[in-house]
Amino acid sequence: MALLIFLLCGFTVHSGFVHPVSAPQVYDLKALGKPKQKYKWDMRPTVRVCSDSGVSISRAARAVKYWEHLGYDFDGVYGGSFSTCMNPKFGEIVITIPESGFSGEHMAATRVYTSNKSGNIVKAKIFILPKNANKDRVLEHELGHALGWSHYRQRYHMMHPQWMHGGYDSYGIRKLN
Ligand SMILES: [Zn+2]
Repeated sequence: MALLIFLLCGFTVHSGFVHPVSAPQVYDLKALGKPKQKYKWDMRPTVRVCSDSGVSISRAARAVKYWEHLGYDFDGVYGGSFSTCMNPKFGEIVITIPESGFSGEHMAATRVYTSNKSGNIVKAKIFILPKNANKDRVLEHELGHALGWSHYRQRYHMMHPQWMHGGYDSYGIRKLN
């Protein structure tokens, strides 16, 4: 198994002002191309929410729903204690608190593990600071990384690297197969 991506979301905490969601401009889309999904799952991941993360099961379920509406399948959302949260099991996306050394400038980060054999994602770990646990869109964005999506610099897009410029726009991230 290889550790392939560690995405620190340049999600610096801002004043909390949220831009209204509007249609992306065609010109920008041309310049940017489509969002890229670098890795995929070949199974339905289970989401495990660690008790110390500050994320409630219902909050996590809401984030999962965003992706379910886009065609992705999950194998449920469950709670987890400290012992089950250190290392995600095969097939799991774990939501937990950041490891030591995590910069306070970032709101969250996601680590994705892929299989050397298949190249597909086999597990993922989402790190989130408890103070950002209930912040709009943060968990949805990190789940996007856990599903293999890279950052996408289109204003109001879910995968925008900066929280203040992001939004719920799901252009190009619907599951196709
Ligand atoms: Zn990110």
